[in-house]
Amino acid sequence: MPRQSLAAETRRFTRRWADALHEAVSPARPFEDIERVLEPLVDALVEIMRADPFPRDAARDIGMALVEANFRNARSLNRTITLLGTGFVDDLGALLGDEEQALATVAQLQGAVAEGFSLALRSRMLRERHTTQAAALAAARASESRRRTSEARFRAVFAEASVGIAIVDTHGAVIEINTALAEMLGLIDDVATGLPLADLVADDFPSQAHADLAALLAGETDRFRTECVRTRADGAMLRLDLAVSTVRDDEGGIDFLIGVVVDLSECRALEAQLWHEARHDELTGLPNRKLFLERLAEAEHLAGLCYLDLDGFKSFNDGHGHDTGDQLLIAVTLRLRQLADADGSLVARLGGDEFVVLVTHPDDAGDDRVSQYAERMLDALAAPIRIGDDEYSVTGSIGVVHTAVAGSTPSELMRAADISLQRAKARGRARWERYDPDRGAEEATNHELATAIPLALARGEFCLDYQPMVALPELTVSGFEALVRWRHPQLGVLGPDRFIPIAEQTGHIVALGRWVLEEACAQARCWYDEFRDVPVVVSVNVAATQLREPSFVADVLGALDAAGLPADRLQLELTESAVAGDTSGALAALGELAAAGVSLAIDDFGTGYSNLAHLGRLPVHTLKIDRSFLSPMRPGGPTDPAHDKIVAATISLAHSLGLDVAAEGVETPAQADQLRVLHCDSAQGFLFGAPASVDEATSLLAGHAERADSA
Ligand code: C2E
Ligand code: MG
Ligand code: MG
Repeated sequence: MPRQSLAAETRRFTRRWADALHEAVSPARPFEDIERVLEPLVDALVEIMRADPFPRDAARDIGMALVEANFRNARSLNRTITLLGTGFVDDLGALLGDEEQALATVAQLQGAVAEGFSLALRSRMLRERHTTQAAALAAARASESRRRTSEARFRAVFAEASVGIAIVDTHGAVIEINTALAEMLGLIDDVATGLPLADLVADDFPSQAHADLAALLAGETDRFRTECVRTRADGAMLRLDLAVSTVRDDEGGIDFLIGVVVDLSECRALEAQLWHEARHDELTGLPNRKLFLERLAEAEHLAGLCYLDLDGFKSFNDGHGHDTGDQLLIAVTLRLRQLADADGSLVARLGGDEFVVLVTHPDDAGDDRVSQYAERMLDALAAPIRIGDDEYSVTGSIGVVHTAVAGSTPSELMRAADISLQRAKARGRARWERYDPDRGAEEATNHELATAIPLALARGEFCLDYQPMVALPELTVSGFEALVRWRHPQLGVLGPDRFIPIAEQTGHIVALGRWVLEEACAQARCWYDEFRDVPVVVSVNVAATQLREPSFVADVLGALDAAGLPADRLQLELTESAVAGDTSGALAALGELAAAGVSLAIDDFGTGYSNLAHLGRLPVHTLKIDRSFLSPMRPGGPTDPAHDKIVAATISLAHSLGLDVAAEGVETPAQADQLRVLHCDSAQGFLFGAPASVDEATSLLAGHAERADSA
């Protein structure tokens, strides 16, 4: 823990404590004075909490110091005790080390501080009484009144304290107990008077405690502490912390004993609450990763895991805002929970849009329960989700793992679940995939890939393929879209869908995207030099994260500059969600780039959530209609007249807003004809050329230039 934040945390708690005491004392004292008194005490408290074994004397000194500093009423004590139980842990939690250990220590701390406080008050009163006895008659009158106020003060604390206090005589019998203790024990009136202390506080006083009490009464020791269990009249079981100390007279003989009793049951409740908070997700109330891993480690009859990740949740969040995203997660949680409750399974949220279900089964009878469960999860997500007045469809991909094949340690299982989830995503989403141990070795988890990106960049493992874009209706090559690939030394060539999303999540996209830009601009410059007469544009995909990067505009202009490429030879492809809503920084960046002459296109149009009117107001030049809109035009595929109308309407609306339209994923001549009829401006797809290497793209251009020359 860095020193500075330590200071900030102790200061915060000092202020809270001073606040509490400020209101507790009258006449009022300046807040700064109170803070000055408390500062060293807070430092001491932190020391006490960190010491092992618990330094009870130092803790009692805190209570005594409060009395010395003239905080002598019950409210001061009560507020301090309460604050130690709550605010102290809240403010300093991280400083106090292991949470359960800290809570146990806080209970002791509360007891010791209360004890110190009571002792100090009592001995002050005694001091004053002895002074009185020794003093002259005249002086006695004055000190008599002092004695009385002191006695009254002790009475008040004794009566009002929230901790239980018992005054015990030199034979171990109770003289009196305060209201708090009477209430704690469920006693009425003074039935406690005359009872042995041991019988008052415990069903069965521990034998060590009997010995300690005997030693105390014999004057051999000054205090002891014990925990005991006491059944109250109403049947409740109390766990009590008892601290007993002697108060001696001036001659050193034992005057009486003070027992301070703290109800640990309350601390346990607090402890339970903190335990719950540390292990549950705040938004959905589901168990979090920590609790899930604990349960996984101790699960019996574990059949397997279903690891769910919602499809496209990131763009949903970007497009609809985080509040709606949160609502969606809550709705998904409800459905998953219903399923899990009916089945007796545990469902947890691992973070973001990732959920995991622990499927247990007493005897794995060979019926594939885990896959069946995954199937039911997909079914549960099938119906649209209603948020406010709107309905949304959501799908998820699920990695399925059977303990029988994936091993049984939590980390083996989680890795296998991650790998099969990635496969489900790669195979088209909205599905589940089973873990295949034979392939597992060749695959890698997202985490492994993400951490490898920087090194892969340094080693030059990334490369670009280029897919031709053609102008309609003449079918001349107007440019190439640069598409990144990763030549992974173990996993072979990986497509962008496999690593771009995780690069976005981890922020590595910024460095990777910069490399893509520089590489694509350099290549464009080569083509510019070689084929002066063919105006070839290179189109580069830009992730939302990149666009929000403050250095983005400078990066793009820098890449153009370094390559010596005119700005109008570069196009950037952005997704709808990246420009949806007013992500003001992003819009300013787009404006600057457009002003510099860079073309801007909206990629995968139709799959996002923004509307055309909004896009018309942006400095965007082209819409690329997603290939899913063309698929009904496929030969043999279902013809959907409504789909055609959407494409037609999109094109004419885009034109009326001054935007060009490009069609993606054109695979058949029929589709190309149809697009020509609809006045689509350009097209891209396997019909005109799949993504290809630099050399292949260059020879395509060369052939093209030749035809142009001979024409
Ligand atoms: P995209 O920008 O929509 O790129 C087009 C994708 O469609 C490419 O997949 C391409 O191979 C595929 N495709 C092209 N023609 C056809 C066709 O006729 N039929 C079918 N079925 N598919 C076709 P690829 O290369 O796997 O790229 C996937 C996505 O990865 C890209 O989609 C783009 O969003 C992203 N991406 C690629 N390179 C980069 C990059 O450098 N940076 C960023 N941020 N994203 C990239
Ligand atoms: Mg693209
Ligand atoms: Mg696209």
